[in-house]
Amino acid sequence: MDKTAISLVWITHDQRVQDHQGLTEAAAIGLPILVVYGLAQRELNPTTFGWLKTGPFRLRFLYDSLTDLHASLQSLHVAFHYGEGDLQEAFNLLASQYEVRHLFSEQLVGEEEKEDFLTLTTAFPQAKIHHYSLDTMIHPDDLPFSLSHLPMVFTDAKRLIESKSKIRAPLPTIARQQILLSIPSNLDKLHAHLDSSIGPFLKGGEQAAHHHIDAYMYKDKHILHYKVTRNGMLTFSDSTHLSAYLAHGNLSARMLYQMIKRFEQQVQANESTYWVIYELLWRDYFHFLHQKVGKRLFLLEGIQGRKPTYSKNERYQDAWIKGNTGYPLVDANMRQLNQTGFMSNRGRQNVASFFHHYLNLDWRIGASYFESLLIDYDVASNYGNWQYLSGVGVDPREDRMFNVTLQGKNYDKDGSYLTHFLKELSTIPSHLRYTPWLLTDQEQARFQVMIGKDYPHRIVTKNLAIDQERPSFNR
Ligand code: FAD
Repeated sequence: MDKTAISLVWITHDQRVQDHQGLTEAAAIGLPILVVYGLAQRELNPTTFGWLKTGPFRLRFLYDSLTDLHASLQSLHVAFHYGEGDLQEAFNLLASQYEVRHLFSEQLVGEEEKEDFLTLTTAFPQAKIHHYSLDTMIHPDDLPFSLSHLPMVFTDAKRLIESKSKIRAPLPTIARQQILLSIPSNLDKLHAHLDSSIGPFLKGGEQAAHHHIDAYMYKDKHILHYKVTRNGMLTFSDSTHLSAYLAHGNLSARMLYQMIKRFEQQVQANESTYWVIYELLWRDYFHFLHQKVGKRLFLLEGIQGRKPTYSKNERYQDAWIKGNTGYPLVDANMRQLNQTGFMSNRGRQNVASFFHHYLNLDWRIGASYFESLLIDYDVASNYGNWQYLSGVGVDPREDRMFNVTLQGKNYDKDGSYLTHFLKELSTIPSHLRYTPWLLTDQEQARFQVMIGKDYPHRIVTKNLAIDQERPSFNR
């Protein structure tokens, strides 16, 4: 039997049809197109630390995202297939049906992703391979320096980029193709792994991403206060909540940039609209950094090559994971992560800093837990930020130890974020909530909360000024 000659587009973090270089290039060739997504067995397995590598929140988001992608591709007459587990086996099955002449994929950076791609190319040795650049706002070819000369301080890179680089326009969506291959999507296999007790915190997919932006930007114009509210932890509109869409590639960073620019022209430009672009530059920066440093992103000594001292302490680690450290800001954020798969940037900075600086644990364990739980897990942003906060990454000039008590008081002034996730502290007057260890026995009795019983004692004490500070107590 003659095999059908096709172009295969291997997708990873580019789960969309708009502004998609692989689809654009494949369509120009004119062969029927098959889009394939593969989830290797390791992604479904537990890590050496015991938790799943891909936890239930991200799996749910991924399923919604691929389901949406499948529908969009169908309407463009492009086939979609999902493979999981032993990818070699899945690819061999495809190789028995199709003659893959062209193979398109993002320029993969992660070692595991590169391994998957190698498995794919082995199954189709005749295919011509086409790589396109990663999904950053600035195209790597437009950087004013080579990647090997990427400055090790973000602000230095930003200054050069902003003065010299242009941002390319997104690509148009491909036209409807002539032939739609008949192949099952296989998404029921992915569906079988979903935990039905978990509702989505955010619905995945390209369509959902566009609805979300319409509401955030145009309908409610929340983008106009982004710079003022972005450090908020509780209110949904405080920040963009676009990270999961960007991490899965439901939206390209370039397309988002173009949308912000259009909004600035049509509605209003202010410091806040610029600040979203500024944060997208951080995202780009970590992506370029990953390309530059490769495996060093995962080393204990980080890209600095300076091994931090740390101890092993399962009790500390467990308390951090469960949100039982006795430090309300850390506990509220970890419980939010466990319940939703999301945590604000302010929260992430504090719990990561706490993990390394207060608990003295190996930062890679905390990063792995984030990898499991976050719906927006992005290898470069996650490990890059963890290194940064643990003092072994970029810009290591300051010791990034946050005073988690002061941070709680500053960024959650009325304590409403705290009590949303730590109901047991809600009877305590708001100005005392971030220092429950300072409550006297009489106060604990009056507020009906026993420290050590209803809420844990602090697992470590740090001699930070705030710990001694007793806020004035007005009855
Ligand atoms: P917004 O404040 O609305 O920002 C807009 C966009 O800018 C974000 O969606 C994101 O794409 C980008 N961005 C903002 N801050 C950063 C940053 N510090 N680094 C890189 N990109 C940024 N972000 C991820 O997307 N995936 C991760 O796995 C991830 N892990 C992190 C781990 C730690 C320890 C820390 C401190 C930060 C991490 N971040 C990660 C960055 C940041 O916390 C999230 O992008 C942000 O909280 C997501 O919410 P948002 O979309 O509302 O962000």
